Formats: sequence, structure tokens, C-alpha cells
Amino acid sequence: RAKEDGRGTYRFFETGMDARAQARRLLELDLRAALQRNEFEVYYQPIRDVAKDVVVGFEALVRWNHALRGMISPANFIPLAEETGLIVPIGDWVLRQACMDAARWSRDVGVAVNLSPVQFKNPNLVLTVKEALKASGLPPQRLELEITESVLLQNSEATLSVLHELRAFGVRISLDDFGTGYSSLSYLRSFPFDKIKIDRSFVTELATRDDSMAIVRAVTGLGKSLGIVTTAEGVETDEQFDLLRQEGCTQAQGYLFSPPRPATEVETMLSKARAQAVA
Ligand code: C2E
Ligand code: MG
Ligand code: MG
Ligand code: MG
Repeated sequence: RAKEDGRGTYRFFETGMDARAQARRLLELDLRAALQRNEFEVYYQPIRDVAKDVVVGFEALVRWNHALRGMISPANFIPLAEETGLIVPIGDWVLRQACMDAARWSRDVGVAVNLSPVQFKNPNLVLTVKEALKASGLPPQRLELEITESVLLQNSEATLSVLHELRAFGVRISLDDFGTGYSSLSYLRSFPFDKIKIDRSFVTELATRDDSMAIVRAVTGLGKSLGIVTTAEGVETDEQFDLLRQEGCTQAQGYLFSPPRPATEVETMLSKARAQAVA
């Protein structure tokens, strides 16, 4: 916290703070002001149905348009936002914005919003989701919430009841980054997820590593047996897309189709056939 020195002025930094801690403190102060300054923006990345090869939804991915530093990727501020609790107001804003945007799209495709484990500690999460849907007029069935295994690691009884409540309201729940955490399979028994997102690290090596291929095959098979949609993240090549189709993966998302783009480009992404068409 800012500390008063002898002459009645304020200092941001404690004495003895190293350069890294100071940089972090600056970023935190910036982050606190960013919501008021309207510096966040939601980008959208299309998700395609593999068999039909059409856009069936978009993932909402937050960006921070910093006045001095330009566009900052979530990897560079979400961890700090989580540590400071700022992810709660930021996440609420993303949710409301994504629902409002999606309600205006010309086709009834889904919108997927990422939720941080920290947002589950907020007792108002269910209310926040319901209010975002109500204010936007978006039907609950069009909203997907993406969570990672780490959400289920903490206080799982409370978390599970929140997930069940959201599901009962009609919202779908996806398990993000599948395969990267701990004991992934047991989580599939703890909650009936609507969707499994196969982590990009497996998709990237699909064509070059037999073990990655085996893992993707096992997960898509698991999805089919359990009646859960599978979405491959980070699809970058036609070869990867062909292999995913062969394995019966349900949906695909990645730079092959489009990177995340501003909301103003959603209609173009909806109407456009794939840039690099597969024969
Ligand atoms: P995620 O939810 O797993 O999102 C997928 C990330 O992979 C996105 O990075 C996306 O731009 C990137 N990606 C998609 N296709 C490709 C591809 O073909 N190749 C490569 N190399 N990357 C691809 P992004 O937008 O930087 O987001 C990173 C992470 O930040 C997200 O991972 C998510 O965990 C988190 N995040 C983003 N927005 C939010 C948010 O609103 N709330 C919370 N809590 N987390 C968010
Ligand atoms: Mg995600
Ligand atoms: Mg993911
Ligand atoms: Mg990922």
C-alpha cells in the first residue's frame, strides 16, 4: 500500500522492493484503473463443427488495450488479476459483454466464456451469470462456461453445487485444457460436462508424435462413449484437421480457421467459408 513519508507525500513502493516487485505493483495499479478506463476488449475465435465444417460458436477471449503498452495478452495479466482478486470484476465484465455481443449476432451460435477458479469463490457467481443473460436477452442454452480442472481442485462441494445450479438453468459447462492437469479422468465422473476441450499441446503434435495421436484418439473415443462433445484447441494445419475428422472429434478451433478477432469482425467470420478450404 502507498505509504506516507515524512513530508506528507505518498510513495507507491516500499523500500527494498526489487525491480520485479515494483513492475508488478505498477501493473496492479494499472489493472485496477483499466476497468474504469474501459481498456478491456473481448475478442472472438470461431469454433467449427468438424463434420459439417460450419461455425457453431465463438470463444470469448479478453484483451487489455493498454494506453502505453498496446495490446496485452491475457497470459500476461490474468495471473496477477487472479492473485489480486481483480479477475472477479474483470470476469463479470467479460461475461456481460460476451452475452450482449452474442445476443446481437445474426445466427444463434454459442458463446464460450472462460471462468477463473477465483470467480468460484465469489458467492454471487450464479446470480452474475443469470443477470448477464437476463440483461442481454441471450438464451442460457447459447452460453458455455469453460472451466479448468483447477476449479474442481478447490472446495469441490461448493463448486459442484454452483456448476449444477448453472447447468439446471440451461448453461453448458466445458472442461478446458483437458489433459494438462492432474487425474483428468476422475473429474469426468465428478461432474457431467457438456464438452471436453483437448489441450492445444496434444493437437500441435498430432501429426508428428504417435503418443499425441493416441491421446487424441482416446479422448475423442471417451467423448463419444460418454456422450460429451470434444473440441480440439489450436488446430493450425489441414493435416491436423483431417486427423481430427478421422478420429471423430466433434469441433475444432485454431489459427487454421481464424485467430481471435474483435467483435466487429464476428459477422464476417460467420458468413465466410474457411480461408484455407480443405478439399
Ligand atoms: P484458453 O481458454 O485455453 O484459450 C485458448 C488460447 O489459445 C487463446 O489464447 C487463443 O488465442 C489461443 N489459440 C487459439 N488457437 C490457436 C492456435 O491455432 N495456435 C496457437 N498457438 N494458439 C491458439 P489467449 O487469447 O492468449 O488466452 C490465453 C488464456 O487466457 C486462455 O486459454 C484462458 O485460459 C485465459 N483467458 C482468456 N480470456 C479470459 C477471460 O475472459 N477470463 C479468464 N478467466 N481467462 C481468460
Ligand atoms: Mg478456454
Ligand atoms: Mg483452452
Ligand atoms: Mg489452452
